[in-house]
Amino acid sequence: MPELPEVEAARSLIEERALGREIVAVDDSDTYVCRPHSPGEIADALVGATLTSAHRRGKTMWVATDRGPVLGLHLGMAGKIVIGEHEAGEPKPDGPVLAPQWDRFTVFFADGGSLILRDKRRLGRAVLDPVIEHLGPDAAEITRKAFRERVGHGAAPLKARIMDQSVLAGVGNLLADEALWQARLSPVRPAQSLDDEDLDRLRNAIRASTRRAIRLGGVHHGEVIPHRTRDGHCPRCGAPMARKQVGGRTTYWCPEEQV
Ligand SMILES: [Zn+2]
Repeated sequence: MPELPEVEAARSLIEERALGREIVAVDDSDTYVCRPHSPGEIADALVGATLTSAHRRGKTMWVATDRGPVLGLHLGMAGKIVIGEHEAGEPKPDGPVLAPQWDRFTVFFADGGSLILRDKRRLGRAVLDPVIEHLGPDAAEITRKAFRERVGHGAAPLKARIMDQSVLAGVGNLLADEALWQARLSPVRPAQSLDDEDLDRLRNAIRASTRRAIRLGGVHHGEVIPHRTRDGHCPRCGAPMARKQVGGRTTYWCPEEQV
């Protein structure tokens, strides 16, 4: 599942390859992926415009245009952004070669290229003017002060707190397990039980785990991730990994070191 590092890679791909290209057609015919818009609505807003900048907060991504409308793109559980390079003057949204089965949303550029949301699971979204006000600060950029204030509250398990996108945007299931293991903090202790030193250590672990995942190409490169199995052992101390549902998600941790 895409987490913050995968979304950042997609944002950076759009920034490098899709900005400044004039939009001549949009395939927004998938009414589920493009809900609540009706077919043609996103196309009407974007055709003739140029993408000007690509942004991200947590796992939410949006692209600004020179005409005002903002295109929100969400990767869902399995989506990818693909930049296609087709022959000039050949925008064929329905063509079998240019629009494979899993291409849910496509922006066609005047130079023949395209920006595609390719998503086998069909859980991604393309939407105009996405609402981002409900999201907390980005997990990779939040200040120490804001992190202490937002995360260190409530009786909810710590893991659920850091995965609450309104508290902190961008931490998914794997990144949470990795960062908590790096910080030696138990996912099940109440968020309010952390002192400032714990909170600072956790913030550093989230930032370091995120940077590492961006550098290596995904959260599955985390140090503890390969050991998240029923018979897995902690790669640091060798203790059998504990496993439990926390905040509705399968969670693994080292019960010896994460307290
Ligand atoms: Zn351990």
